[in-house]
Amino acid sequence: MNIFNRNKNNCEECKEKFESYADLIHHARHAHHRTIVKCSGCGKEFIHEKDRLHHEREEHERKVKDRYR
Ligand SMILES: [Zn+2]
Ligand SMILES: [Zn+2]
Repeated sequence: MNIFNRNKNNCEECKEKFESYADLIHHARHAHHRTIVKCSGCGKEFIHEKDRLHHEREEHERKVKDRYR
């Protein structure tokens, strides 16, 4: 069911492991000064733009697309 639990909470810059994705976001922002991107649909935060786009496609756009089919 949960497709986001596969090594999602590992920092790819220093290989540190975190309990949650939120902790990883916090670490990336403060330790590596990464720019965090936010989902415009629900406010969820992501380290990578591609992760945000994937989330928006999976969580938000799919519902819209189904309606037009
Ligand atoms: Zn790190
Ligand atoms: Zn969202």
